[in-house]
Amino acid sequence: MRDVRMRGFAERVDVEEVERFLERRVQALPSEPVPLGESAGRVLSEDVTAEVNVPGFARAAMDGYALRGEDTFGASAYNPLSLELIGEALPGRPFAGMLGPGRAVRIMTGAAVPEGADAVSMAEVCQERDGRVEVREPVAPQKNVGAVGEDIQRGAVVLRAGRRLRPQDVGVLASIGVAEVDCVRRPRIELLITGDELLPAGSRPEGCRIVDSNSVMLRALVGRDGGEVLPFEILPDRPEAIRTALARDEADVVLVSGGSSVGQEDHAPRILAELGSLDFHGVSMRPSSPAGCGRVEGRWVFLLPGNPVSCLCAYEFFAGPSIRALGGRSRDWPQRRAHVPLARKIVSAVGRTDYVRVAILDGRATPIATSGASILSSTVRASGAVIVPRELEGMSEGTTVEVLLYDDEFEVVS
Ligand code: AMP
Ligand code: MG
Repeated sequence: MRDVRMRGFAERVDVEEVERFLERRVQALPSEPVPLGESAGRVLSEDVTAEVNVPGFARAAMDGYALRGEDTFGASAYNPLSLELIGEALPGRPFAGMLGPGRAVRIMTGAAVPEGADAVSMAEVCQERDGRVEVREPVAPQKNVGAVGEDIQRGAVVLRAGRRLRPQDVGVLASIGVAEVDCVRRPRIELLITGDELLPAGSRPEGCRIVDSNSVMLRALVGRDGGEVLPFEILPDRPEAIRTALARDEADVVLVSGGSSVGQEDHAPRILAELGSLDFHGVSMRPSSPAGCGRVEGRWVFLLPGNPVSCLCAYEFFAGPSIRALGGRSRDWPQRRAHVPLARKIVSAVGRTDYVRVAILDGRATPIATSGASILSSTVRASGAVIVPRELEGMSEGTTVEVLLYDDEFEVVS
């Protein structure tokens, strides 16, 4: 392998080529059983079929009186019909007997409709008197009765494989008696944060040392994408340290922050190539052109440049979609979009994909001026990012662009 250190990339691949490669190779992880109470947000790995009817018994949909509908035919305010009250049915405490003609049972919503009854007359149109019930309105058979299986039929496929469970999905699963569901395993992510200049997050920057901001940002991004970050330490820029860490078999994905470029201390690409494969290194994009990816045994390794904006950008293009795919989610970028005109032109170069931070003001997107890859605060000032595709030389003022919004709550005024 050519050592790119202090020489630079001989050539760079297109973003799309890396994306296509990852799309082909990165597949969902195997499944694991997950207790229902922890399953919201997880991705089902197989269809779930109901083994029971819900409800499993005919139940009252109203508070009132269970009776035979035909016994009420002809009832009115002027001609109340009187039925013998023979008992009571409460939720979970059914009426034990059989209901014959001319009889009624007091019943509450959710209680089993007694055998022999076929309707429930609302309390509002009935009146109890001396052990009898007067009914002032006719009620058709089946009225106010929830039929067996009206919610879910036994044998029905309730949810399909690939479904990311919503809160109500989990509720439905509980209703059919499920205690555990098979979900795609959450990808485990190892962070290799490299840099002799780095102090751990939480420290105060001092002298020529800076605080590691990438790990904090990556942790949040991985969380958003359904992955689980393993405990980590900051690694020195020493080949042995990086080699040992890359060889460790604990994660599904390794995110290497820093040391991915062509500097003298950038050891990760070479070590990755030695231990496994360096599938790509150097991408025609800005920022994050020194990004790369490869594999060591079954683990995916993403080389994310240390400059924080590059790190964010390389994560979003390559690591994020792969982590989502491993977890059974969609590879698509999860950001909400706004479509707004450009307040100022964006200059790019043909052959290169650009990730441009923009601020949306008065319904127009303005590219942020101080936008070097090391200026993380530019992403804080930005409302989102515009991606300028490889084939464009830029975008002129007034062009409607799609902004990938950084906020979920951002009010989209177009
Ligand atoms: P590198 O990719 O290692 O050459 O780093 C490029 C730039 O990003 C340097 O200025 C580093 O100090 C900075 N940098 C590297 N890692 C981090 C990190 N974890 N957090 C913040 N800045 C970083
Ligand atoms: Mg470094």
